[in-house]
Amino acid sequence: MVRAMTTQNEVRIPLDLLPADGRFGSGPSKVRVEALRALAETGSSYMGTSHRQATVKDVVARVRTGLSDLLRLPDGYEVLLGNGGATAFWDVAGFRLVRDHSRHAVFGEFSSKFAQAMQEAPHIAQVDVVESDPGTHPEMTAAAGVDAYCLTHNETSTGVAMPVARPAGADADALVLVDATSAAGGMEVDAAEFDVYYLSPQKALASEGGLWLAACSPAALARIDELADRWCPASLDLGIARDNSLKDQTYNTPALATIFLLAEQLDWLNTQGGLAWAQARTAESSGVLYDWAEAREWASPFVTDPAKRSTVVTTIDLADGIDATLVSKILRANGVVDTDAYRKLGRNQVRIATFPAITPDDCRALTACIDYVVEALAG
Ligand SMILES: *Cc1c(COP(=O)(O)O)cnc(C)c1O
Repeated sequence: MVRAMTTQNEVRIPLDLLPADGRFGSGPSKVRVEALRALAETGSSYMGTSHRQATVKDVVARVRTGLSDLLRLPDGYEVLLGNGGATAFWDVAGFRLVRDHSRHAVFGEFSSKFAQAMQEAPHIAQVDVVESDPGTHPEMTAAAGVDAYCLTHNETSTGVAMPVARPAGADADALVLVDATSAAGGMEVDAAEFDVYYLSPQKALASEGGLWLAACSPAALARIDELADRWCPASLDLGIARDNSLKDQTYNTPALATIFLLAEQLDWLNTQGGLAWAQARTAESSGVLYDWAEAREWASPFVTDPAKRSTVVTTIDLADGIDATLVSKILRANGVVDTDAYRKLGRNQVRIATFPAITPDDCRALTACIDYVVEALAG
């Protein structure tokens, strides 16, 4: 056999090994081509029309109903939405969901950012941080006086998933706020265990960025009213967002493509079999990668405890002799993109999204591609 060449520009992965779709990024993530086609097919009837009219409001309604169905929200829960993504939602929550004492499970970049936002907010008196090392998650504990417990269902920066559960012993009126940005739509969850399950749609829900959505329990909706007297910028005011959302609108202009692609993905997920189907699919895709890594001497799952391994974002450490940055670069040159480790984690690692839009077969193909690249580099 002719040895593959070893400089990065010359490693050409054979076409028959390549995945059908080479997008493995954790956000923005793969948007299904079928959804993009459906958007294009709206032609002159949707894009470029008023978000205050039925054409767009009907799609917002599809999104709100679709997410509600997918999450099997009990009666009384409402899906709210607004502009700014999950990052903006941290500030939104700080104004009209957190009374004055929050407690955060911190185990990576995203969970730490919410805690930091609350620490910097002058109207929040106390912020507790329950922390663990990257690659693990802490156990959330309850304390009297905490009015908002802040969890992250899937820490996208490390590939650690943590169970969504109300902390035992929490005050009766404490809220459980869950950052579900990369989990929602790809992992099972019990709506009885959260008050707010919020997300940006460019991750497991295969749409675009720029929007936040929040499934809110009756207790969360009551908290919005309770904090109505606190000063809040209108663009971050959850009361204003709620009033608009209930009319299938947003306070200010949203990106219409984001809403359309999200509606398409929610319909697709619900048609395939909802969260149970999505959970099985992401377990299969991530399982392909974890099993492959465990079978290689030069690769291993970053998250050592299998119970904490994410099914939607798979992180694989490579051995010291193999430069993961170079591997990702070569993959990219071959059309297989965004397998790079989370930049701030700083590990010799590939990070591979295994969201529902990504097929298990493409994950299998990706393992063959990485094998090929590693062998070529060794040769
Ligand atoms: C991506 C991400 C965010 C930030 O989302 P933006 O849309 O960029 O604001 C927050 N939390 C988690 C868990 C994420 O994965």
